[in-house]
Amino acid sequence: MRGSCTDFIKQTGVCAEEAFGVTTETAETVPETGERTHMATLGNPKETIAILNKYGFNFQKKFGQNFLIDTHVLEKIIRAADITKDDCVLEIGPGIGTMTQYLCENAGKVIAVEIDKNLIPILTEDTLAAYDNVKVINSDVLKLDLKKLAEEENGGRPIKVVANLPYYITTPIIMGLFEAGVPLASITVMVQKEVADRMQAGPGSKDYGALSLAVQYYAEPYIAANVPPNCFMPRPNVGSAVIRLTLHGKPPVEVADEKLLFKLIRASFAQRRKTLVNGLTNSPELSFTKEEVTKALEACGYSPTIRGEALTLQEFAKLANVFAGTK
Ligand code: SAM
Repeated sequence: MRGSCTDFIKQTGVCAEEAFGVTTETAETVPETGERTHMATLGNPKETIAILNKYGFNFQKKFGQNFLIDTHVLEKIIRAADITKDDCVLEIGPGIGTMTQYLCENAGKVIAVEIDKNLIPILTEDTLAAYDNVKVINSDVLKLDLKKLAEEENGGRPIKVVANLPYYITTPIIMGLFEAGVPLASITVMVQKEVADRMQAGPGSKDYGALSLAVQYYAEPYIAANVPPNCFMPRPNVGSAVIRLTLHGKPPVEVADEKLLFKLIRASFAQRRKTLVNGLTNSPELSFTKEEVTKALEACGYSPTIRGEALTLQEFAKLANVFAGTK
């Protein structure tokens, strides 16, 4: 579906104010001088629609474009991310620059990576033109060498990632950041509520799975806010949540073979209802026999009928180390 914001309002048959409940708040920041500034102009339906109409911008569904139109949510994200003037922030998908304005006012430096070339002139010539601490890059974030970028832009010191993510690539973006060894302090992102729940879930919960374990290996998750669809334009058809992932200094478990740990985790949840013996024996990623798996489970003191969903990260690590023959 493609359609300009005006089309969207025409389709709903109501004016912007009725559709989105216009607020007139703008961001307030207190710079070091103590003087209050009000530079962030977006973050409400009226200004967002004005910018979209000025540039005749068409939303592209394929890019997961749902722009934030609520100042309270924007302030909550900035608070959850704990941004200070010492921080270099990577924003993935600035859109028309709504959150970028808040980031520019609170961070030392902002790198904003946007795939949609139609948004670049809006950002550079208009909504971000007043800020001298932002760099806009027109690129697919999945194709960028983010480790190199962090080194160039922040001397290899940990950066903070803040984003209202395009939901269609949430997992590749987050896992890509972790796996590429990008120096990271934290990742604070808007994601689908269901995905946030999966990242934070522990054993025994229906949401617990490979994503929970992968995220928790690298970071400590904390859901900072639940966000309803009416805080976005256009409204997504799912609920959203802001999740902060604070990177561990070092992983909470020690494994001899990290790749093997993740293969075991993926195989255990690929067929969720199967026992671990069957899941691990059937996996195309692994080549253990039924006897080897049964023996490894025994060595760990786990029941031969146990399922992956019952094991903690520590228990998966123990199993991985038994398979690796190190413990
Ligand atoms: N940050 C803006 C806001 O909160 O209003 C926009 C958020 S919107 C959910 C996601 C943004 O990510 C869009 O601007 C979209 O064009 C951009 N995007 C989608 N895929 C991308 C990719 N692979 N690389 C970089 N940006 C991408």
